[in-house]
Amino acid sequence: MVATAQTDLFALPDLPPTVPAEPPGKRRTVLSYGLGADSTAIILKFLADPAAYGLEPDLSDLVVVHAVTGDEWSDSLSFVDRLVLPLLAARQVRTVQIARGGRRDADGVLVLDDTRAPQRIWEAGPWRLSDELRAAGTVPQMASGRRTCSIRFKGWALDAWAAFEFGTAAFRRVIGYHAGERSRAEKDTAIQEKINADAGRIVCEPYYPLIDADGMDRAAVEAYVHARLGERIRKSYCAQCPFSVSCAAKDRHEERLRDHPETASAVLMLEYTSQALNEKVALYGERSLYQQLAEDMPVNDAVLTRFERDLERAPFALYEVRRLYLPGRTKDCRTWHGKRCSSPRWWCRTKRTAKCRRGHWAGIDLRSGWVDTAPWCEGYDEACRGEQAKGQAWRSVRVAFEGTRLETEMHSCAGAARRKACGCVRGAAPTSSGRTTWTPGTATPRQTRTWWRPPLESSRSNAAGSRKSGPR
Ligand SMILES: [Zn+2]
Ligand SMILES: [Zn+2]
Ligand SMILES: [Zn+2]
Repeated sequence: MVATAQTDLFALPDLPPTVPAEPPGKRRTVLSYGLGADSTAIILKFLADPAAYGLEPDLSDLVVVHAVTGDEWSDSLSFVDRLVLPLLAARQVRTVQIARGGRRDADGVLVLDDTRAPQRIWEAGPWRLSDELRAAGTVPQMASGRRTCSIRFKGWALDAWAAFEFGTAAFRRVIGYHAGERSRAEKDTAIQEKINADAGRIVCEPYYPLIDADGMDRAAVEAYVHARLGERIRKSYCAQCPFSVSCAAKDRHEERLRDHPETASAVLMLEYTSQALNEKVALYGERSLYQQLAEDMPVNDAVLTRFERDLERAPFALYEVRRLYLPGRTKDCRTWHGKRCSSPRWWCRTKRTAKCRRGHWAGIDLRSGWVDTAPWCEGYDEACRGEQAKGQAWRSVRVAFEGTRLETEMHSCAGAARRKACGCVRGAAPTSSGRTTWTPGTATPRQTRTWWRPPLESSRSNAAGSRKSGPR
């Protein structure tokens, strides 16, 4: 009956008699909750003794914010759903979940949840990190050591939300660095101080309770969470994160992939596509997850078989890949012209050859010793001019043909000669749409023209011994 449905719609649960009112004037404390051991330990500590951390006894000034990346392990989500959210709900702690609205910053931040009775962590928002990687045909970039994924999907979203929420009011930002991460905390403080100075006000003050109040290192944190919740917490990170696999965690990571073959297959698919478009960009730099799993073959058989089955069913496309490089600056230019090159010489964009360095050394022989000076060679001699320095790389990917794996293979197999002529590269799974777009930042491939990935069977069998399982 419609009337019943209507009634149900408005049958809201009874409000708890006392919803904590946020204290006026007091700065809020924001804990960015990454679902891991460190921030979970902080939540438990805050709940146990709010006053010790400068919080109101009813926790009305605490906001727990979780930025959803969309690629979190399902067992991490379940851990928090079962063991942590009920505690937050029982104390009516304001819990907010946010996610990127889309690929562009202009798509904004979506508030998925903002409640004092949290029930579950969202699996994904409208735009996942893996969507972004799939669309770009790449894997998270390790180069430069910056975790662009967490900057775009966590840091950026949290900052945008905080700016909307607090306006110009200062707040306290809680970060879960543990006692073993003092240097990271110091770096973070320095960055925040710079932001505050640039803004001409206190945007927020960082607070690291695990260091400042408790002096707990990682082992202590894990033991504490285990003791309080009765279950061992697993590391929280996106399944495709290349930083997750330090040597120590390799076995645990592989074990988790085996526990979640569908996730493993999706990650391998991302990597396959990325390598098809540029064999140099595997999950761990030039080293691939596939290769790593294949090395420990018998145990990982089910995972790899699942991936091969998915690959067989995935839509394939033949792509035309073009790359261009903007000219870069040479080391000489950086040394002698500093941050900005205002008086360019030929050796600013073109590297000097060994011959030039040997024949046209640059320096002054003072009686006290040798002092280097800027190169004076005019570069008239061709032999002085080496390679052009490469700057930022851009890539364009255009779909030339779409179909099943077999059809695509037939199309591109019309002859090696033809492949050579058009410079096509084969890639798996749909990446960008038909229009040609240039995207920044892909490493230089070893060979730019054609790359043919060998059938998986053979790559699996020789992956153990040789590094040649990729390009041929
Ligand atoms: Zn990541
Ligand atoms: Zn220069
Ligand atoms: Zn020279």
